[in-house]
Amino acid sequence: MTVRLRSTLASLPAYVPGRSVPGALKLASNETSYAPLPYVLARIAEAAGQINRYPDSFSAELSGALAGRFGVQSQQVVVGCGSVSLCQQLILAAAGPGDEVLFAWRSFEAYPIITAIGGAVAVRVPLADEVHDLKAMAAAITDRTRLIFVCNPNNPTGTAVAGPELIAFLDQVPADVIVVLDEAYREFVTDPSVVDGTTLLASYPNLIVLRTFSKAYGLAGLRVGYGIAADTSISNAVRQTQVPFAVTQVGQAAALASLEPEAERELSERVGEVTAERARVTEQLRGGGYRIPDSQANFVWLGQGTADEGGIDAVKFAGRCEAQGVIVRSFAGDGVRVTIGTAEENDLFLAAALPR
Ligand SMILES: *Cc1c(COP(=O)(O)O)cnc(C)c1O
Repeated sequence: MTVRLRSTLASLPAYVPGRSVPGALKLASNETSYAPLPYVLARIAEAAGQINRYPDSFSAELSGALAGRFGVQSQQVVVGCGSVSLCQQLILAAAGPGDEVLFAWRSFEAYPIITAIGGAVAVRVPLADEVHDLKAMAAAITDRTRLIFVCNPNNPTGTAVAGPELIAFLDQVPADVIVVLDEAYREFVTDPSVVDGTTLLASYPNLIVLRTFSKAYGLAGLRVGYGIAADTSISNAVRQTQVPFAVTQVGQAAALASLEPEAERELSERVGEVTAERARVTEQLRGGGYRIPDSQANFVWLGQGTADEGGIDAVKFAGRCEAQGVIVRSFAGDGVRVTIGTAEENDLFLAAALPR
């Protein structure tokens, strides 16, 4: 006798987290390598004094601060237990059995999993040359499409779509279909042609932009992400599908502290170091004969392919790095994603990867 479970669980792909191997350098989860800012740690310690109390379930103070920063109403802002939680809440809010959730593939590996958990149907549109094929995505919209993820820059390829293409796409999406612009890596974007999704909110009432404190802000362990919805019909629905008290008081306090000018200055310096290192790592890998798409995120992508076209065998390449004490994220048959760390860490990776 076994317990009765939903049949969808049997076919659910597992989320594969980047591996941590004792003694090895982990460049597999797009975390920041820098230690938390002392200023933020102090605020965390302060908030820890109140953990006998439940947090504010809707993170009102943090929502207010974010609303002020982006020039929107607090009601339009939602805070979640990581932005991946907001992705799931959006699916629960918008897509039921038989409904379609559309996204590029390969993209963020959580999308197909949370779509299946919601009972909806995942529609994957292949990337074209490692970039979102927005024309094909527009063509894949049906009357069952309820939600579309656009991951910009895309995880795991690091590629970003330019403003005009994104706008042309948004113009083709029916007004009753939610577009989730997942900008988890927005802080690392240096290409001015990549539009900041929050500037499009006034024009597209069906849009929500997701950001996170996990990547550039270095708070991955605390689980705080946020969304800014063009219309409160979306943000209110996200709040309705939230697990009560999902975001801890400590997380809220750390996020608030990270928004203060003192922390922001330090963070933008760190982001500058990461983007400079991204350029250096890309150049060295290309010089060594690897094909590397332009990344706008805090990682680079090495695509699967034959050696003469600059490609790799993902599993073999990851094994080679691991033998040198560097853990990268491999997607068997597709490629390998390598997080940009500090200069010393990147040197360790480059020493493992070169000569090819
Ligand atoms: C890391 C990541 C997220 C969210 O991370 P959280 O830690 O849940 O905030 C969302 N989308 C993409 C594409 C990511 O890579």
